[in-house]
Amino acid sequence: MRECIFCRIIRKDIPSTGVYEDADIFAFYDINPIAPVHLLLIPKLHIISLAEIEEKHHTLLGKIMVLVPRLAKKEGCADGFRTIINTGYVGGQEVDHLHIHIIGGGKERLPAMIHRPN
Ligand code: AMP
Ligand code: ZN
Repeated sequence: MRECIFCRIIRKDIPSTGVYEDADIFAFYDINPIAPVHLLLIPKLHIISLAEIEEKHHTLLGKIMVLVPRLAKKEGCADGFRTIINTGYVGGQEVDHLHIHIIGGGKERLPAMIHRPN
């Protein structure tokens, strides 16, 4: 089985534009950005998705969430940003390693995330 692409990015087997790293967390630019700032913030621990989160992860998740506004502002999201966590098939998750998208950095308001059916 081929190894998880984000684990390979953490190990630097695959290059990425990193913006933050510590013992537990890595943050880098999305390769296919939908806005001027499009970061991915991931735990170094291979957790498949938010659906696999357990009580033992609560310190790690807290650390990640505290970093979100810090990195968003540092990378240029002065007027706000959007965070997205796609989870599982229905949630549209494509990479099976928990990640938070941080999106922003433009002047315009981002479009509605999900369009209501008429
Ligand atoms: P998701 O649909 O939430 O699973 O998002 C996965 C994201 O990973 C997508 O926005 C991809 O553009 C991004 N992605 C996939 N491969 C890479 C890579 N090698 N470097 C940076 N971002 C990547
Ligand atoms: Zn992984």
